[in-house]
Amino acid sequence: MDDAIRALAALLRPATRILVFTGAGMSTESGIPDFRSPGGVWDRYPIVYFDEFLRDEEARKRYWLRSRETYPVLARAEPNPAHYAIAELERRGKVLAVVTQNIDGLHARAGTSPDKLIELHGNNLHVVCLDCNARTPREAIQAELVAGVEVPRCARCGGLLKNTTVSFGEPLPAEALQRATLAALTCDLCLVIGSSLVVYPAADIPVLAAQQGAPLAIVNATPTPLDATADLVVHARAGAVLPAAVAALD
Ligand SMILES: [Zn+2]
Repeated sequence: MDDAIRALAALLRPATRILVFTGAGMSTESGIPDFRSPGGVWDRYPIVYFDEFLRDEEARKRYWLRSRETYPVLARAEPNPAHYAIAELERRGKVLAVVTQNIDGLHARAGTSPDKLIELHGNNLHVVCLDCNARTPREAIQAELVAGVEVPRCARCGGLLKNTTVSFGEPLPAEALQRATLAALTCDLCLVIGSSLVVYPAADIPVLAAQQGAPLAIVNATPTPLDATADLVVHARAGAVLPAAVAALD
């Protein structure tokens, strides 16, 4: 493991425009299970696709039942040492962007600044009205759900509410995708942490970075489709490697 930490530090040291790309493995050390893992919440509560949500009240009931069960896990999670290590890289002036597939908001809470953070799948901190765009803290909606409301509605206009997360079958937010693409084209290192790189189009971002010539480093517990082309692959938990590699920059 010391060799892996030294190799990662050697890639981080000269870099000044790092694109950090994070996925579910980043947050498992904060107690948030990968919802795609067998036996996880995604198994117990089937996925509700965006078009179903729009047209079917029963689908909306399933959506909010699942959200009611998963929200408390996200809400009580705290950033872990790997989140703080990424914020420390930013303080050292080395981060171009932090592109995440995670919806838990933990990068922001660890200190990654809003102008660096690109949440490709949105976040779980608010709900938005699909009719009038009014935003409400997600916490307030949780109280309604726990009190027995099956499908919460906008307090202002009665419209449909939805978490500010990207659903299956829903396009990624265009602005986030544009910012991430620009970062991929201009970074001088792409550091993938805790992503299996199987969810597209998000996984196109590191592919694009590697294609334009940026070195690619992958820290993930399991193999990924990009391992063969990466400059460094570390099959480990991020918390076991990244804080030590950042500390080794001194
Ligand atoms: Zn509304």
